[in-house]
Amino acid sequence: MIAEIIAVGSEMLTPYRQDTNSLAMTAELNRLGVAVAFKTILGDDFTQLVDAVRIALRRADIVLLSGGLGPTEDDLTREAVAAALGRGMARDQAVVESLKERFNRRGIQIREINFKQGDVIDGAELLPNANGTAPGQWIAAAYEGAPRYLALLPGPPKELTALFAEQVRPRLAAVVPQQYIATAQLRMAVVPESEVDARTAPIYQAYPDVSTTILSTIGEIQLHFLCAKPSLAEAEARVANVLRRCADEMREVVFSRDGSSPEQVVLRLLEARGLTLATAESCTGGLLAQRLTSVPGSSKAFAGGAVVYSNSLKIAFADVPQQMLEQHGAVSEPVAHALAEGIRHRTGAGVGVGITGVAGPDGGSAAKPVGLVYLAVSSGTRTEVRELRLMGDRERVRWFSSQHALMLLYSLLQQAGQAGAVTLDQP
Ligand code: ATP
Ligand code: MG
Repeated sequence: MIAEIIAVGSEMLTPYRQDTNSLAMTAELNRLGVAVAFKTILGDDFTQLVDAVRIALRRADIVLLSGGLGPTEDDLTREAVAAALGRGMARDQAVVESLKERFNRRGIQIREINFKQGDVIDGAELLPNANGTAPGQWIAAAYEGAPRYLALLPGPPKELTALFAEQVRPRLAAVVPQQYIATAQLRMAVVPESEVDARTAPIYQAYPDVSTTILSTIGEIQLHFLCAKPSLAEAEARVANVLRRCADEMREVVFSRDGSSPEQVVLRLLEARGLTLATAESCTGGLLAQRLTSVPGSSKAFAGGAVVYSNSLKIAFADVPQQMLEQHGAVSEPVAHALAEGIRHRTGAGVGVGITGVAGPDGGSAAKPVGLVYLAVSSGTRTEVRELRLMGDRERVRWFSSQHALMLLYSLLQQAGQAGAVTLDQP
């Protein structure tokens, strides 16, 4: 079965509001094994609404509408669905009474126009709304001979999610063939999306029953797998299988097979090795520390860090020699090295990270262009420095720097766990 979601409301066709209800409903539908094939967003226009509902009924088994159930003239969802189905409407006296009672309790004068929230499409089931005035409606219909299920839901996200969970989910579960969904995520470091696709497509294409999506985010590529089967074990086995094969293919860039973020993975490895981490950040201004501390429980492995933006703080907080700064400049390999080593020493942490670079848009030169970043990881017995030449604007350079720092930490910590590798342990 496939679904279409129709979000009704002119405000979502402006630059100021986005449709988020469809995301919540898509997650719910996927959990039931139903894919969303279409989404329509449209304004409060009767003719367009009727058209949109007819188109949806032609191409989707399940049609979920959100918004336009209010009492005002431009709330037209009920009327439009009735028209698209060729059905009438009748006013439900119980709803009218409960509206009156609700208004009374609040001491607000009820108007004639409010009563239209009690209009029920012929053959529809009312879905009581505990959080608002507009009840939803559920309709099982035949459209041009095909069975169709429609739900009309209120626009406010809180009302919609509660109503969906209590009223719509069980009704859908009763009509959708019983399926179990398994999902898995493979996360990879800085690597071109085209390369991931070229190498993994031959693998995942051999799994037509698993839907595979490639998501590209800044400094990371993710492969998402989803499989629906009559048994959970079967679905889980399929996604685990395709994930393992793709992970083997991409092993040099894979950092997470269970959905964990780079921050989580690094913190977990530090903990496993009994190490703590400290950071001295210049161009990233604490972004790396921010990312690490966004993980609950990070205090077990992350000691803290310093934002050493000026030369004087690089000297004061990380013992970078003044002469080194004068000779090589703040953005240089020796300074990154000294920052990592200095902060590790100062804090007594097992591992230190130093980041220094030109984030732009100003401050670049021919010798040190915008995007030139040095990062270093020091363990006392060993210090690794990387020179990065990053593209893009300030935000992108800063994010990539923190991402590369996490990836360098990850690979060094990984190696430290392997027998015979250079150790990255407490001095
Ligand atoms: P009400 O009785 O509150 O008028 P309604 O069903 O008529 O309910 P709308 O008037 O369409 O709903 O929307 C009410 C509010 O809900 C909007 O101002 C908007 O903030 C939010 N909203 C509506 N649709 C969506 C959506 N698809 N995604 C996120 N928010 C939405
Ligand atoms: Mg409204």
